[in-house]
Amino acid sequence: MVRRTWLSTLFFISFSLLGAEVERFSLSGELTQGSLIRGQTLPGTQVWLNGQPLPVTQDGQFVMGFGRDAPLEHSLTLHFNDGDKSDYPLVLSQREYKIQRIEGIAQRIMKPRPEDVARAQEDARQTREAREHFDTRTDWQQAFVWPLHGPITGVYGSQRIYNGEPRNPHFGVDVAAPTGTPVVAPADGVITLAVPDMFYSGGTLIIDHGFGVSSTFIHLHKLLVEPGTAVKQGEVVAEVGATGRVTGPHLDWRLNWHQERLDPALLVGPMPAK
Ligand SMILES: [Zn+2]
Repeated sequence: MVRRTWLSTLFFISFSLLGAEVERFSLSGELTQGSLIRGQTLPGTQVWLNGQPLPVTQDGQFVMGFGRDAPLEHSLTLHFNDGDKSDYPLVLSQREYKIQRIEGIAQRIMKPRPEDVARAQEDARQTREAREHFDTRTDWQQAFVWPLHGPITGVYGSQRIYNGEPRNPHFGVDVAAPTGTPVVAPADGVITLAVPDMFYSGGTLIIDHGFGVSSTFIHLHKLLVEPGTAVKQGEVVAEVGATGRVTGPHLDWRLNWHQERLDPALLVGPMPAK
């Protein structure tokens, strides 16, 4: 069973299988499903995750993410400058997800017409494309902040039952706030998508933090930035709304590593008290 405390996300996890390895690399982030893991190794080291090469910055930083139902066992391979090549097992803890029942979703959203289905498919294609874009920016190294403060009304990974019908799990963290509440960038980045009216997600904004890491904000009332705009952490980029498949105004913040859907709450820590 998983014992998750917010503190654990702040700890550096050092691998010390061999005493000599301690200084050679470290990982930060919780080794669990839904987690973004940031790594630091010696400059010039090559890194593979499960046999796939990971991009590494000149100063030896890399990033990876594990989805909601990711397998628990992974392997990290590091090929150091001195010629040493070593494999390290990465073992994730398994999470338990909540079940959330939501009533009062409009029939048009529950049973979309063919033209709505086509539109939702096009929305998904655009979103996938924006998230797949690779940017060499390293804004993902920053300490992320909450895009707004408020009560958390939906958590990552929960199985959702809409009007009694089981549907896809929820992949974001929902923060309730009145329509018009400012939403800020949780870290620096560049806007890669800004669409005011997607079928399910309503007003939708994607901020690319580099190396495949992106934030997506959905159900927005207003988008205040255009694609291609660079934004700074804390800069207002949008307003909370109630657009798309919702029952009330809130921000739904999603975090991705490429197409892997991650839990923003693991990255950012607890919501600050008022
Ligand atoms: Zn949501």
